[in-house]
Amino acid sequence: MEEIEKLNIEILEEIKEIKSLTDLEEFKVKFLGKKSKIIDLMKNIKNIKEINNKKKFGQKINDLKNKIELLINDKYCELNLAFIEQKLRDENIDITLPGNKINFGNLHPISYILNEIIDIFVSMGYRVIDSHEIENTYYNFDALNIPKAHPARDENDTFYFDNDHVLVTATSPMQVHVMENNNPPIKIVSPGKVYRFDEIDSTHTPMFNQIEGLLVDKNISMKDLKGTLDFFVKKLIDKNVKTRFRPHYFPFTEPSAEMDVTCFACNGKGCKICKNSGFIELLGCGMVHPNVLEKVNIDSDKFSGFAFGIGIERIAMLKYQIDDIRLFYENNLKFLEQFYA
Ligand SMILES: [Zn+2]
Repeated sequence: MEEIEKLNIEILEEIKEIKSLTDLEEFKVKFLGKKSKIIDLMKNIKNIKEINNKKKFGQKINDLKNKIELLINDKYCELNLAFIEQKLRDENIDITLPGNKINFGNLHPISYILNEIIDIFVSMGYRVIDSHEIENTYYNFDALNIPKAHPARDENDTFYFDNDHVLVTATSPMQVHVMENNNPPIKIVSPGKVYRFDEIDSTHTPMFNQIEGLLVDKNISMKDLKGTLDFFVKKLIDKNVKTRFRPHYFPFTEPSAEMDVTCFACNGKGCKICKNSGFIELLGCGMVHPNVLEKVNIDSDKFSGFAFGIGIERIAMLKYQIDDIRLFYENNLKFLEQFYA
């Protein structure tokens, strides 16, 4: 009995000193393990002769064993709670600290300008239809009034897949598709990539971007064409920009014109960029040729229309005063980041 009491005191003292789960494990082995004092004491039970004492002694040992188990359990909970609290303190996040900056990508300047142009025409009620990249020669040439002998059809100017299929040389073939599938009034713009067999230099690449415009309705005249394109450049560049139309030739428009705008760099005073003329050539346009209308079964006595084609790289180069088209495709971030809004 005395030994039980001694053991009880020893246990209570030791448990107080336990500071970790490892210590607690050792404590458990020491007092409840196979070689523990409790087990030794249990072995002594059989030596007690008097039955009442035997019972009492056994009861005491059992109580002590239960007590140890309870103490271990409580200590385990206490240590575990302390561990969790410490972990929470260590992993505390200061939500007031400024975060790491994430570098988002941005639109390529060509996409940016193209979107600007599309927005202007959409605001005027134009529908957007993406251009094709591959056409058969009927759409790319014949339907656009480009005869068999025209130099644009030459293999030195156009990428042919076979005799009948080409990479589009302009966004103009979409005019034909749209007119084949829709009755006037027609009012669309059609952006897309176009391909020409050009040597690469500071103003030429074999692929570039265009946007086509087409309007067909009753009583459409050159006046409507001029008014529309004049409004467009004033929106795109500056309200003080002046436009001028020079006669030109395209097989699919008649009359045809090239539209110039007052030089971006000198505002029309004359400089190196505009070769002292004060004007810069911006786009090609004209009234849809009656032959083109007739080919898609639109009565050219009842309906008329205008069309235009805009080179996106050309606009971007003029607007941002870039003197080499290749910069758009070299993917140099130092160049591209200049256009980040
Ligand atoms: Zn100029």
